[in-house]
Amino acid sequence: MEKDNVCIDCYNQLDKVAKILKLSHAELDILTIPKKILTFSFPTKLDSGSIRYFTGYRVQFNDARGPTKGGIRFHPEVNLEEIKTLAFLMTLKCAVVNLPFGGAKGGVMIEPKRFSEKELEKISRGYIREIHDFIGPDIDIPAPDVNTDSKIMAWMLDEYEKIKGKHVPGVITGKPVEIGGSRAREYATSIGGAYVLEELLKSLNRKPKKTTIAVQGFGNVGLNIARILYEWCYKVVAVSDSNNGIYDKKGLKIHDVIRHKQKTGKLAKFKNAKEISNEELLELKTDVLVPAALEDQITKKNASNIKAKLILEMANKPITPEADNILLNKKITVVPDILANAGGVAVSYFEWVQNSMNFYWSEKEVLDKLKAYMTNAVNELSKVCYDFQCDMRSSLYIDAIKKILDAERLRGNLR
Ligand code: NAD
Repeated sequence: MEKDNVCIDCYNQLDKVAKILKLSHAELDILTIPKKILTFSFPTKLDSGSIRYFTGYRVQFNDARGPTKGGIRFHPEVNLEEIKTLAFLMTLKCAVVNLPFGGAKGGVMIEPKRFSEKELEKISRGYIREIHDFIGPDIDIPAPDVNTDSKIMAWMLDEYEKIKGKHVPGVITGKPVEIGGSRAREYATSIGGAYVLEELLKSLNRKPKKTTIAVQGFGNVGLNIARILYEWCYKVVAVSDSNNGIYDKKGLKIHDVIRHKQKTGKLAKFKNAKEISNEELLELKTDVLVPAALEDQITKKNASNIKAKLILEMANKPITPEADNILLNKKITVVPDILANAGGVAVSYFEWVQNSMNFYWSEKEVLDKLKAYMTNAVNELSKVCYDFQCDMRSSLYIDAIKKILDAERLRGNLR
């Protein structure tokens, strides 16, 4: 098996599943070797008048199920290995939620905070000039990721359309609504996770009012999932940001917490709540823990202190593989990121569909469709868990891998 192409954690998980499914060499090659890789450098004239070269990547991992799909990140630590791994995970994620897409990822090695808005626009346009022949609405469709947003997607779309000399809104998703974006895109990841949680808790017969929740991270994903679950009557007892956390065993009034954070820039000193550290938040005795901040938050150091009954991975890779094993032994249910945070890419798919029809849906239509996709994925997962008697992460890998290999087989690329 080619270990260099996906990260060691993915490789280990894949190896486990390869044994269960008795995968052949050809099948493993398809799952571990990216289909196409583009590495390039491109010049940009900075505000000072000097010229600087930036390194960019775009990896299309597998397109057996449809055009490839995945975000573009701007980060100083972007490198080809990371982009390949993220493209692999996007391939699995799209298959898990039954989107007719393969997986891709792209990035530019850059610290965006160091550049003016004008420079960022030039870098975004320069990136598209390098990849415009590599992408397309029926080939590969980028989207926002770390440090890129709807404004950057608008510049990228504009550059692509200028080169092609026509409107092609479906070439990129995560655009502003005014130029072909979808309603509900900004909180799609969070509400998608909330639908998954609701479906799982329903099968356990748990009532929202009696279910306590702690959310780590109060950015786009964390704030919105805390707000949505509060609005659905769950008892959100703790939230945190990079500074610290707040806790109220009777439940926090999340709308007031949001106002307080907007006003003061902090969670600290929120009335009637106890201040806690981020470490304490993770170890609270709650029904549900939602890591929605960064990767590697639950490690072998703190996994044995985790007391939540269920963990919903809204961040990407918040649990290390060693910690995952400890949690498994403690019989804590972990809902993996490739399902829990797939709501964002599902609404990206809806955006692409709306672009291809040139006909746009209301917020309610988008949410109804999202709920159907997410609950269907949960039900499929329960079946795989039962059939293979596996934990959720292994079952999701099994489910996605079977779908990808079936598509390759039908195309005649495998026996
Ligand atoms: P964000 O930058 O908007 O928010 C991150 C939040 O985490 C901030 O509130 C920050 O203060 C907080 N934080 C940072 N370090 C922390 C720590 N040690 N403890 C507690 N809080 C801490 O980012 P986001 O868009 O909300 O993304 C969060 C996670 O979700 C990331 O892992 C991201 O890859 C993943 N994700 C996001 C989306 C999306 O649509 N935004 C989709 C899929 C996955």
